[in-house]
Order: sequence, then C-alpha cells, then structure tokens
Amino acid sequence: MKPIHIDSTYGVVIHRNFSPLYADEKYAQMFGFESIDDVMNLNSLFDIIDPKFHCAAQQAYNDVMSGKERPKVRSYVNQNVHGEIFSVLTVDHVIEWEGQPALQITVIDMSMIDQANEQILEQEQKYKDLIWHSLQGILVHRDFRPLMINPSFVEIIRAKSVAEVMALDNFMRIIPERNHDYAKNRYQELISGKVKSTNSIVENIAFDGEIRYFHLFESVINWDGEPAVQSSMIDVTEKYNLERQIKYQASHDDLTGLLNRRAISEKITQKTLGISCPSKTCLLIDIDNFKLINDQFGHYAGDEVIKRFSQQCKAIVGDSGLVGRWGGEEFIVFLPQKDKEQAYTLAKRILQGCKQEHYEFSGNKHTVAVSIGISTCSSKHCHIEALIQDADNNMYQAKQQGKNQIVMPE
Ligand code: GH3
Ligand code: MG
Ligand code: MG
Repeated sequence: MKPIHIDSTYGVVIHRNFSPLYADEKYAQMFGFESIDDVMNLNSLFDIIDPKFHCAAQQAYNDVMSGKERPKVRSYVNQNVHGEIFSVLTVDHVIEWEGQPALQITVIDMSMIDQANEQILEQEQKYKDLIWHSLQGILVHRDFRPLMINPSFVEIIRAKSVAEVMALDNFMRIIPERNHDYAKNRYQELISGKVKSTNSIVENIAFDGEIRYFHLFESVINWDGEPAVQSSMIDVTEKYNLERQIKYQASHDDLTGLLNRRAISEKITQKTLGISCPSKTCLLIDIDNFKLINDQFGHYAGDEVIKRFSQQCKAIVGDSGLVGRWGGEEFIVFLPQKDKEQAYTLAKRILQGCKQEHYEFSGNKHTVAVSIGISTCSSKHCHIEALIQDADNNMYQAKQQGKNQIVMPE
C-alpha cells in the first residue's frame, strides 16, 4: 500500500464585498499567482471563485456580515489561474479593517486530502476486484446469513446469480442436515476465538441438488464493525470422488465387492484392540471342489459361484459381523460379539443357504457346498493370527472329514 501523504497549506485573504484588502503569500501561491500584488490587483475575488459558487459565496458573505449567520467552516471547489481545479476549506472571521468590518478568510488547500481519498478508493477497488475476480469461491456470513459472496461462489454452488444466493436467509440449506450441528459448532469455535481458522473438506448440496465437495478455509474477519466468518473454497468433488474410489478399490475385492484380505485383517485388528466383549468368533469358509467347476464349466462359471456365494454370505451375516474374501474361493467372517454356539447357528445358515442356491451351467442345474471352520476367542487380548489359524485348522479338518460340514472348537 502506498503511503498517503498529506501536505495541506493555508493562506489568508481579507476582503470587503469581494474586493481584496489583504492577501498573504500562501494565498497567492495557492491560486497560482506570482505575487501578492496580482491578488490585490484583482477587481473582485469572484474572478478566482468557480462561477457555480458565486451565488453561495455572496449569500454566505451577506449572512455572516449581517450577523444572520455565525462564521463557520465551508468547502469550495476553486480553479487556479492555470485552470487547475482544487478544493479548499474556508474559515470565516469578521474583523475590522481600517475602521470598517471586513471578512477575513483562512483558506486551507484540501487537494492533498482529495488525492489521499482517491488513493484509498483506488485501493478499495483493487481489493474488491481481487475478491470479485478470484477463482476461489468467497463467502462472508454471520450466523449463516450471507453478507457477501463472489461470482466464483455462485458458480461452484451452481446458483443462477449472486442475487439468488444473497436472497437466502440461511446457508443451512446447502449443508446436509446430518452436518448441521458440526457446522454450527465450528462457527461458534471460530467466532469465540477458540480456533483461529479451519481447513477442511466439506459436503454441500448445490443449488441443482447435487452433492458437491469443497475444500474450505474459514477465518473470522471484521465486517461492518462486527465479527463474521469469511470462507474461501474450491470445488474438489472430482478429486474427492476419485480418492474415495481409489480407497475403495484398495480395500475391496473387484469380483465380489467384499473387503479384501488386507482390509479385513486391519478391520479385525481394530475391532479386537482394547474391546473387551465376551466373545469373538471367526469363520473360515472354503468352497468345496471348486476347481471342478472351473475345469468343467470354465472360469466365468467359477466367478459366478464366487460372486453369488459372497452376496449370500453377506446377506446372512448382515450387521452382526464382517465378511471378507480371504483368498481365491476362501472367505472369512468375523463376528465380534457372538459366542461359538451363535457362530455355529450362523454357519449352519450359510451351509443351508449354499445348498439352496442353484446354478445353471451348460444347461444343467448345480449346487455347491462349503466347509466351515470356526474359532473363538473369549480372552480380552485376543491374538488375531491365532484366531484365524484356529479357524483354518478347523476348516481343514472339515475337509478331511468329508467336506460340506462345520467344525467348531470343543
Ligand atoms: P477343496 O474342496 O479341497 O477346497 O478343493 P478345491 O478344488 O475347492 O480347491 P483348490 O485349492 O484345489 O482350487 C481352488 C481353485 O480356485 C484354484 C483356482 O484356480 C481357483 N480360483 C481362485 N480364484 C479364482 C477366481 O477368482 N475365479 C475363478 N473362477 N477361480 C478361481
Ligand atoms: Mg481353497
Ligand atoms: Mg475349495
């Protein structure tokens, strides 16, 4: 910001009905005269007052001299002898000059102040332009009531105009209801000074009803003398959805949509850490003679079996546990709050469900069977590897005993 330089000067003139009686050097300079004599040689001071102000000046003179009005500060726009416009403040005093009343006027050159004001306006305009043309959406609000928004905000929120957004008495309509309390708390924390700024990805409902994600930065500013929250944001919906998709793909199996081995291992570990539920059980399920399906009917038939079994298994387990694809045709079920009897009941339903599922390959109906090993852990600090190993051993035993059965711990 350029420093504002104010260098006002003042000059004095004394006149009687606009005939100059006295002028000082500053006054002469202010009006562009070479010397005081040039002022004194004027027929009338009207020669150096903008004709627009002649009437007002005469009126003021009459009123002050007659005592109708008290001398006061006035402002005029003047033109110097070079034709340059400058504005002045004048202060009147009625004095006695050579035995007669006369008007002494102190004239203060205000041009510098005008220039300073212009500079301030110019700078204000620059900031306004900066906000107006910013590619970031900018919104200032108090208690979710809009105070200012820029065109980029209109664009990213998919509204028609600034006016349409400003007409909202409340911004809550662009925030999903389940996030209202979170948004209100964050506003309070900012306004109270508990937090200085926020930096987060938020979900919003655009004016066209679509869910959009914004990277939002918020801070408190002073707006018309009172605190308000200023938010600047960019639309990151595509990036956010892509990241979500990548995260999903990294943790889920393509064919079945189940959690993959790594993801379910992590989840089971999280769920067993520090949770002292009375029982945790694990089921390891392997499709029997699966290789035959592949060999007889092809890989796609095998895929179809894996997919349909996964859906069935997920539907049976429901909210009671986690289902993951452990390997090719092996699946794992983790039940965080089921004892071995409850786990056995559930395993039986899986076994039954499997028998009832009919496949048609090469024009013939087929069913598949599974072998299930159950393991249980009722101690507080359960070892996840041991739990899975036990289930695997029991599953192996089920295979050894003729397949299509469940083996559970004693
Ligand atoms: P068991 O009854 O002893 O379990 O015998 P099995 O034939 O089911 O088991 P095996 O381990 O001999 O064969 C499993 C086969 O599953 C081998 C592999 O080619 C196949 N497989 C693994 N993943 C997939 C898959 O995603 N799709 C298909 N179609 N086949 C798969
Ligand atoms: Mg297998
Ligand atoms: Mg198998």
